[in-house]
Amino acid sequence: MSHHLDDPVTVLPGVGPKLAGRLTDAFGIGTLRDLLEHYPRRYHDAGAVLDLGEVEEGTPATLLGEVLDWSSRRIPPKGKRSRPLHLAEGRVRQASGAVFTVTFFNQHWRPATLPPGTVAAFSGTVKRFRRELQLASPDVQTLGTVAAGADAASAAQRLDHQRLLAVYPAVDGLPSFKLNELVAAALEVLPSIADWLPEAVRDAHGLRDLDGALRAIHVPADHADRHAARRRLAFDELCSLQLGLQWRRSQLEAGTVGLDNSPVAGGWTERFLAQLPFGLTGAQRRALTELGTDLGGTRPMHRLLQGDVGSGKTVVAAWTMLSAVDRGRQAALMVPTEVLAEQHHRTLTELLAPLGVNVLDGLRVAALTSSTPVRERRRILSELLTGELDLIVGTHALLEEGVRFADLGVVVIDEQHRFGVSQRVQLKEKAGGSAAAGASEVAGASEVAGASGAAGGTGGSGGATTPDVLVMTATPIPRSLALTLYGDLDVTVLDELPPGREPITTQLITPREAHRRGRLEAFIRTEVAAGRRAYVVCPFVEESEALPGKGAVEEHRRLAEEVFGDLEVALVHGRLSAADKEAAMAAFRSGEAQVLVSTTVIEVGVDVPEATIMVIEDAERFGLSQLHQLRGRVGRGGGRSFCVLFAGWSTELSEEAIERLQAVVGTTDGFELAEADLHLRGAGQLFGSAQSGLPDLRLARIQEDIDLVADTRRLAAEVVAGDPDLSAPEHQPLREEVLRRYAGGLEAFAALETG
Ligand code: ADP
Ligand code: MG
Repeated sequence: MSHHLDDPVTVLPGVGPKLAGRLTDAFGIGTLRDLLEHYPRRYHDAGAVLDLGEVEEGTPATLLGEVLDWSSRRIPPKGKRSRPLHLAEGRVRQASGAVFTVTFFNQHWRPATLPPGTVAAFSGTVKRFRRELQLASPDVQTLGTVAAGADAASAAQRLDHQRLLAVYPAVDGLPSFKLNELVAAALEVLPSIADWLPEAVRDAHGLRDLDGALRAIHVPADHADRHAARRRLAFDELCSLQLGLQWRRSQLEAGTVGLDNSPVAGGWTERFLAQLPFGLTGAQRRALTELGTDLGGTRPMHRLLQGDVGSGKTVVAAWTMLSAVDRGRQAALMVPTEVLAEQHHRTLTELLAPLGVNVLDGLRVAALTSSTPVRERRRILSELLTGELDLIVGTHALLEEGVRFADLGVVVIDEQHRFGVSQRVQLKEKAGGSAAAGASEVAGASEVAGASGAAGGTGGSGGATTPDVLVMTATPIPRSLALTLYGDLDVTVLDELPPGREPITTQLITPREAHRRGRLEAFIRTEVAAGRRAYVVCPFVEESEALPGKGAVEEHRRLAEEVFGDLEVALVHGRLSAADKEAAMAAFRSGEAQVLVSTTVIEVGVDVPEATIMVIEDAERFGLSQLHQLRGRVGRGGGRSFCVLFAGWSTELSEEAIERLQAVVGTTDGFELAEADLHLRGAGQLFGSAQSGLPDLRLARIQEDIDLVADTRRLAAEVVAGDPDLSAPEHQPLREEVLRRYAGGLEAFAALETG
C-alpha cells in the first residue's frame, strides 16, 4: 500500500483516533506531512555507544539500558554542607544483561519520569563504585518503554547505529521518544517523496533532494547530514515565501500598467524642493532618484522606504505625492492612528504652505478620519470624486465604503507594520478609473482583490492602471528581515539623519534607586523652566489587577496634583475623543502644557522639537522597537535630550527584559537595535506581529540564513519574471507548494487565486 504525505496519521500502525486527537491538540499534527514538519528541537549526541565491558573509569560514555528499579535515601548533613542530600539511585540493565547504576542528587522527581521498564540512554562520566559502574547525574534520553509494549530493543538499536537522536518538542503524554517512533513509522510507510524543486535549481544552490532531507532531518547520519538537511528545508520555506510574494505582486499587476507619475519639470515637485528651508540629505536625494525612476516606470511602483525616526521620510513622502499632482492626479497618505493623521496633515500643510495650500491656485489638502464630522466628510468625499482634492491624509477611514478617487496616482502608507498586507492591497484597489474598483472596501479577505465591476470614479480608460505605492516604516528592519517580509517590495533606506540631531542620553531606573525618581522630577522642573518639555508614557490607560503597571490617568493625576502643581500637565490616551486628544496635543505643542502624560498613542510621528525628556514607566512592558520609537520623540532640535526608563516597578524583570532594556540604553542606532530585537525575539514573533498570513518559518532563521534569503528572493524574481502566473507546466509543483504553504493565509493572494 502506498501512502502519501497528506494521509492522516491514523494510517500509521498503532495510531488510533485517540492518539491522533492528542497529536492534533498538542501540535496541530493531522497528516504525515505535519508529523514530518514537526522538526526536532535539538539532537541528542550519544557519542560512541559503548558496552559496559569496554568502558573505562573516568571516560565520558553513553550507556543504554532498561531501568530495573529505584532506591532513594537521605544523606545527612556533613562538614560544610548544612542540609541533607536526597540521593536517587537507579539500576539499569544493558542488552547484554550487565547492570550499571545511575545516581541523581536532589532530583526527587527523577524516578517517576524513568519508571521501571523505561529504556533510555544515559550519558555522563563513568565511575567505578563498589565494583559496579556508575554514572552520576547523567544526561538522559528516553527511548521507549518495555512495559508499554514499545519495541525497546529496536529503540536501543536505533541509537546503536545512530549517534544523533532527534529530540522533539514534547508535551505531557507525548514524550519525545514517542515522536521518534511515529516519525520512524511515517518514514517507513512513505515512498520516496517527490521533489518540488527542479533538479537544476537544487544543483545551482547546492541543495540535497527533498526526500533525503526530510529523512535526514529526523534521522541524521551525522552532523553534516543534519546541516545539509536543514539547509534544504529552510530553503524550501524561504523560497515558497518569496515565490508567493512575487507571484502575488505579479498578479496584482497583471493586466495593469503603471501610471506615469514622474515629476514634471517646473511642476509642484520642483517648486517644493526649491522652497525647502534646508538642503536634502544625501540619503534623501538618493531616495528621490530611485522613486523618480519607479514613478515613471511602466510597472507600478511598490517600494518600501525605511528610515529611522527623524530621518526625514515626510519630505520624501510629500515629494512623492506631489509627483502625482504634477500629472494631474491625486495622492493619499494613509496612517495607522487619528493622532498621526492630524499630525501628518499639519506637517504636510506646513511643508507645502509656501506653495499655497487650500487657496486659489494652490494645493487642496484634507484629512479624513472616522471622527471627521459628517458634513465635512461628505464634502471631502465629493471633492475626492471630482478630483478637486489633490492630497488626502487619513486613517483606515480611507478604506471605507464611499471613498472614491477621481484619479488616484500615488498612495503612501506610513508605518506599514501597523497594517496588514490586505490593507495595503485595498487602498490600491480604490484607485478610481476603471481599475479594480470592485468590492474592495471591506476588510474581509475574499473581497479584497476582486475583479473590477462596480464602477469607481470617473476617468476610466481602457487598460486598468495601478497607483504607485510607497510604504514607509520608521521601524528599522534588519536587511535580512526586510528582504523576507517585504519580498515583493523594492527597498530604499534613509540611512542618514539630517544635521542638528541632538544626542540622547538613556538611563534605566530600577526600584533599587528609588531616590532617583525625585531627582528626575526636579530635573524636569529645571528643564521646563528653560523652555523645554517632557513626555511621560505609561503602558496602560488605567492600571488593572490582571496587568500591573502604571495607568496614564492615575499618573496624570499624581503628577498634576502632587508633583507639578505649578505646571500644566496634559493627558492623552486612546480612550479620549479625537477632539480631546487633539486639544491635549495642541496644548503640549504650543507649550501651554509642559508635561504630557500619555499611552503609546504618541509612539509614532509626533514632532515637538522642544520636548527633551522622555520618561517611560514600566518600560519592560514595551517592545524594543517601541521603546526606540518613543525615544525618537525627543532629540529633535530642542537641545540635549534624555530618555529615562523605569523598569521593575510593577513586575519582576526577566532576563530577557533586562537584556532588551540594556540594548536600548546601549545604543540609539535603530538598525543595531533591530538586529538585537530580532536576535532576542526570533523572527517568528516579528512575523506574527508584522504581517499575518505569511507561511511559517520553522527551520529558516533569517539572520543566520541571510544568504538563503537573498538567494531565494532572486530565484523567485527570476521565476516569476519568466512565468508571471506560475502557469508553465514545469512550474506546477512550485505553484502547488506555494499555495499549500500560504493556505488560508495571505488573503489577497487567495482571493486572486479564485478571482
Ligand atoms: P521621519 O518621518 O523620518 O521620522 P521627519 O520627516 O518627520 O522624519 O523629519 C524630522 C524632522 O527633520 C522634521 O522636522 C523635518 O522637517 C526635518 N528634516 C527633514 N529633512 C531634513 C533635512 N534634509 N535637513 C534638515 N532637516 C530636515
Ligand atoms: Mg514621520
